[in-house]
Amino acid sequence: MLHCLLVVAFALSAVATAAAQSTRVPIVRDAEIEALLADYAEPIMRVAGVKRNRTEIVLVNQRSFNAFVSGRKIFINVGAIVQAETPNEIIGVIAHEVGHLAGGHQDRLRQQIDRAQTIAAVTTVLGVGAAIAGGVSGNRQAAQAGGGIAAGGVEAAQRGLMSYRRSEELAADRAAVDYLNRTGQSAKGLLTTFVRFQRDISLIADRINPYKISHPLPRERLSALETIARQSPHFDKTDSAALQRRHDRARAKILAYVFGPGAVDDAFRDAPNSQAARYGKAISTFLYGSPRDAVPMIDRLIAESPSDPYLHEMKGEVLLRAQDAQGAVNAFSRAVQLTNGNAPTIQVALGHALVLAGGEANLRRAIGELEVAITLDTANTRAYQHLAMAYGRLGADGEAELATAEANFHAGRYDEARRFAARAKRRFERGAPQWLRADDIQRFRVPR
Ligand SMILES: [Zn+2]
Repeated sequence: MLHCLLVVAFALSAVATAAAQSTRVPIVRDAEIEALLADYAEPIMRVAGVKRNRTEIVLVNQRSFNAFVSGRKIFINVGAIVQAETPNEIIGVIAHEVGHLAGGHQDRLRQQIDRAQTIAAVTTVLGVGAAIAGGVSGNRQAAQAGGGIAAGGVEAAQRGLMSYRRSEELAADRAAVDYLNRTGQSAKGLLTTFVRFQRDISLIADRINPYKISHPLPRERLSALETIARQSPHFDKTDSAALQRRHDRARAKILAYVFGPGAVDDAFRDAPNSQAARYGKAISTFLYGSPRDAVPMIDRLIAESPSDPYLHEMKGEVLLRAQDAQGAVNAFSRAVQLTNGNAPTIQVALGHALVLAGGEANLRRAIGELEVAITLDTANTRAYQHLAMAYGRLGADGEAELATAEANFHAGRYDEARRFAARAKRRFERGAPQWLRADDIQRFRVPR
């Protein structure tokens, strides 16, 4: 399941106007794709000496190709994964971004602006991306969202901050090739990606591609990269078949969820019987056709790979849509088991199914699953929403109000969060852990 969250980032820098003070960054959560990207990044981060527990890869719900770093986070658009034909292309992009991280290319930015303003810069780049994506795809809403941000006046001022210097681009390219060499991987994918951008410039005068805004790509940079990439003994090495299958599945999933009906068929016309194509087709069937029709399609995939957690997770989503809450509970339980409890977003889905299935035992189990998920994923707004529902149905009003305050807090709706925190405080003894947490939320002020 691809969960779209709108994460609110506050733009409170000196250059932000009142109109642009709050902007929503479309973040996507998905256990399967997050695990894939973590596997792509793991060897790179290890040789780069970047601490993995402090570095997070965030999926951005944009169709355009973009990737960039901000703070300790690497942001990757879902559109980049779809456009990349091989894992190696995304691994190359990650290696380049880690090159920026390890090179401290953001330090200059951090010295100039404080934490809140760094978030603002991120939002601005996404805003520019949104305008472009909307313009190209004809998505009026996206175009308006992006245009609105650009019109706020933040864009021009911050484009300069977010753009890396030319010397930094060359350094990040060199670092990327070094990491790829040291992990026995090819830099061909990175080169392929950059050649594609270069070709796009000459073909459609695509000067406003978001990736190029944040990563300027002059011709001499490309030839420098090509020279060092070809020197590698691993240049002709390809990804393992297993990794390519996972990549194709991620692409199929994104195509089905983000690019709409028909997108999977178009993309997999040459391999309609591949696992990825059938997976994408099952998702499209459940989203745009009938969930009931999708059940046998998912069951066939599960029969082929019975210990694949994400197939069980998908079955849970399909059954939830088909209003079979108990069936969904069983499918999500299996998925949680198969991920050894390391996929909090699946655990949140299980909590949701348990709440819908109802009954005291299910509600109590939902609370247990959701509380565990929250310890791993503290800002998961959906977890708090389901938790509030479970507590509410069990008559635990104070806990329900506190969970609602948390849900609003992590979604950036601070006024609502304060209102529910105030209500929750009245139901707990002064100084109790719940009272203290509600008090924290009530006192929170957006950093300036
Ligand atoms: Zn770059």
